[in-house]
Parts: sequence; structure tokens; C-alpha cells
Amino acid sequence: MAWVEFAFPGCPACSRSWAVSRHRDCPAGKGRGAGGSGGGLEVEPDRSQVRCTDCRRTWGVWETHFHCACGHRFEAREVEEAVREIVRVASLLARVLAQQARDLAEIRRAGAASFRAWASRFADAVAGSLGALAGRLVGSLLRALD
Ligand SMILES: [Zn+2]
Ligand SMILES: [Zn+2]
Repeated sequence: MAWVEFAFPGCPACSRSWAVSRHRDCPAGKGRGAGGSGGGLEVEPDRSQVRCTDCRRTWGVWETHFHCACGHRFEAREVEEAVREIVRVASLLARVLAQQARDLAEIRRAGAASFRAWASRFADAVAGSLGALAGRLVGSLLRALD
């Protein structure tokens, strides 16, 4: 089981998308009641679950509400195709990361320079095969690991 950042699907109103969805009105967030947003959302693709990294709540992918910076609110079902693609990519990433976990531990022991070289090769390889969405996800994953 692996949790991968949940990218924000394209907004139906303004067409923008974001690298990470945020938990609006998160109980653990600081901006509660003032339109503030909380933790980043992560998705567990095998079980189609979403969780917030701040308040640790979990819910089903299809119960997710999205709040775009433009003010538009929409639900997962309204952007079903985009959400399916995000879950698909998250699932591939989770598999690749699991395969690479041992490599990664060894490379990190060998030193920061070799880790960075490996990370950039990995990001290139995954982005090339999965497209720009995966590239963004991998970039943020690698920042989290670094
Ligand atoms: Zn928007
Ligand atoms: Zn939250």
C-alpha cells in the first residue's frame, strides 16, 4: 500500500490544474472559516482512498470535493476521466517506487550526489513514459524524499 500525491484535476471553469489537491476547510488547517486550505491530499490507488496529510482523515476518491483557486467548486464525478487518469498514474508510480525502494536506500547511503543523479534519471524515465502529470508527481515525491 502506497500513498501518492493527489494531483488537482483540471478545473471545469478555468481549466487550470495544480500539482497537489488541498483539503479545503481542513480541521487541522490554520485558515479554517476564512477559506483557508489544509494539508495536501494523497491517494492510495489500490483502494481508491484519499487522505489529508494534516488532519489524517481518509475518504473515497469519488467523495472528493475540489476547490479551485478561481473559486469554482466541483466534485470528482464531474471530472471523472481526469480523476481516473490521476489514479492510474498514481498506481503506476506506487509500483515503480516500490520496485525502486531498495535501490534508493542503497544509493542514498552512497551519498547525496549519487542520490541526486539517480533521482533525475528516474524522473526523466518516468516522465517520459507517463507524461507531464507523472513528471510533476515524481518531482514532488523526490523533493519529499530528499
Ligand atoms: Zn478554476
Ligand atoms: Zn485535512
